Amino acid sequence: MYKKEICHFVIFFFNIVSLRLTAKWQALYLTRNDPYRYTRTINFMEEKVIDEKRQGESLVLEQKLEQKNGNQRKLFIESYGCQMNFSDSEIVASILAEQGYNTTENLEEADLVLINTCSIRDKAEQTVRKRLEKYNAVKKINPKMKVGVLGCMAERLKRKFLEEEKIVDMVVGPDAYKDLPNLLKEVEEGRDAVNVILSKDETYGDISPVRLGGHGVTAFVSITRGCDNMCTFCVVPFTRGRERSRDPKSIINEVNDLVEKGYKEITLLGQNVDSYLWYGGGLKKDYKNASEIQRATATNFAQLLEMTAEAQPGMRIRFSTSNPQDMTEDVLHSMAKYGNICNYIHLPAQSGSTRILKEMNRQYTREEYFELIDRVRKIIPDCAISQDIITGFSTETEADHLDTLSLMNYVKYDFGFMFMYSERPGTPAARKLDDDVPAEIKKRRLIEIVDLQRVHSAYRTQQFVGKTLEVLIEKESHKSNEQWSGRTQHNTVAVFNKEHFKVGDFVMVKIEDCTSASLIGEAIDYSENN
Ligand code: SAM
Repeated sequence: MYKKEICHFVIFFFNIVSLRLTAKWQALYLTRNDPYRYTRTINFMEEKVIDEKRQGESLVLEQKLEQKNGNQRKLFIESYGCQMNFSDSEIVASILAEQGYNTTENLEEADLVLINTCSIRDKAEQTVRKRLEKYNAVKKINPKMKVGVLGCMAERLKRKFLEEEKIVDMVVGPDAYKDLPNLLKEVEEGRDAVNVILSKDETYGDISPVRLGGHGVTAFVSITRGCDNMCTFCVVPFTRGRERSRDPKSIINEVNDLVEKGYKEITLLGQNVDSYLWYGGGLKKDYKNASEIQRATATNFAQLLEMTAEAQPGMRIRFSTSNPQDMTEDVLHSMAKYGNICNYIHLPAQSGSTRILKEMNRQYTREEYFELIDRVRKIIPDCAISQDIITGFSTETEADHLDTLSLMNYVKYDFGFMFMYSERPGTPAARKLDDDVPAEIKKRRLIEIVDLQRVHSAYRTQQFVGKTLEVLIEKESHKSNEQWSGRTQHNTVAVFNKEHFKVGDFVMVKIEDCTSASLIGEAIDYSENN
C-alpha cells in the first residue's frame, strides 16, 4: 500500500514536470467532454485549433433507424461552435427529414449542403469560410447541389455571402429553421433565399429532434435560447437574440422520449441556464409585465432541474452553461438533493480581476465569485468545477493577469477552456474599447493560464486515484480497441478494459492511475443505477 502511494506520487510529480516542459511547444489537449465540443488544442503559435474530429464533422443520423424510409434526397450537414449549434443541427435535420432528406457523410453525393456556423471568435469564422470554398469546388462537379449557411454568421454576413461573393444559395438564422421548407422552394425555383429574423418566442419546443453523430448514450436538450447578459466581448445576443425559455412540459417530454430510446445522460443546454424562467412563453425581459397568475405558476431553473431529476431518476442530468451572476443557492440544493444530477458545474470566470470583469459587464466581482465557489463547496463538497477564461481583454494589465492566475489557484478548477480575446464586430467592446493588448502578450498569458490549469487538472484527477467511481460507458477508447471510455459524474474521462460490459452501461470502476486529463481503472461491477 505504502509502495503504491509512493509510486503514485512519483508518477504525479513526473506528469507535472513533463507537462510543464512540453506545454511550451506541444499541443495541449484539455478536453473533458468539452462544453463547446472543441478539443482545446492550444498551440504555442495559435490560440486554439478546432478539433477536426468534432468541429465540422459531417453529422449523420445517430441510429440508422432514424433514417426515414422513402426519403430520396441527401443532406450533408456540418456544425461548428458550441453545443447549442450541434443541438440546432438536430432540429434542422428533423425538419428536413419531413421534406424528404436523409443525412449523408459523403459531400459529393449531397443534394443539399448546410453549414451551421459560429461567430464567437474570428478563427471560427475563418474555418467556415474555408469550408464554403471547398463546397463550391464540389458544386462545380455537381451543379445541382445547393449550399446553405445556418446559425450565428447568418445575420452579419448574409449580403456578403449571397450578393457579393455568391458562394451560397441560402442563409438561415438560428430562429428561422421552421421556414426551411419555404426557403428550399425559393432555392429550387432559382432564387436566393434568406431569413435571419430573430424571434421573441421561438424555442423549437414542438420539434422532436433526431439525434446526430453520437453513440446513443448522451444527448443535449435545449432549454433556453438567446442571451440577455450583454457581456461586452460577446456576439451571442446579436446573433441569437434575446433570452427566452422553453415550456418545461416539452422539455420533460423530450427527456422521456430519450429514455425510451435508450439514452442514459442528458445535458440541459442554454447560454445561461440558471436564468431559465418559464411563465407561459415570451422574452425573459418581459417577465416584469407578467400577470399574477403567470408569476404564481412560473418555473425557474432549480424547479426545472428537480422536475427532470424526478421524471427520470435513472437518467444522469448535466447542465451548461452557468453564469455566476445567476446561479442561485436553490440550484445547488437541488443538485445536492438528487443523486442523478451530476456533481459538476461549468462556471466561466472570464477573468480574475474585478476591474476587467466590470469592463466585460460581468455582473460579479472577484470576491463574489469566491463566495459562490465557497457556497458550492459547502453545499456540494464533492463538486467538480470547470472554467472559461479570456486572456488579453481590452486594457488587461499584468496585474489583472496575475489576479486571474490567483483566482485559478483559489479554485483549482478540474479543467477549463481558455481563449485569447478576439474582438467581434458590433459588440459593445468593439464599439467602446481598444483591442490594445498585443497578440504576443495575449499568447504568453494564455500559455501561462493553460500551464497552470494543467497543474490543477493533474491535482484534481490525482484525488480520484484509489477511489471507486461510477462511469457511464460512451464509446471505445481512441487509444485501444480493448478498452471502453466513459465519464464519471464529475465529467472526468475514465478508461478501462472492456470485459463483458457494453456501451450505455453504468459501471463501478476502481481508479488505479491518472493523467491530467483522464482516469485509468478497472471495472468491478455494474452500478446500482444500471
Ligand atoms: N454564455 C456563456 C457564458 O457567458 O459564459 C458561454 C458563451 S460562449 C459560447 C463560450 C465562451 O467563449 C465564453 O464563456 C468566453 O470565454 C468565450 N468567448 C466569448 N466571446 C469571446 C471573444 N470575443 N473572444 C474570446 N473568447 C470569447
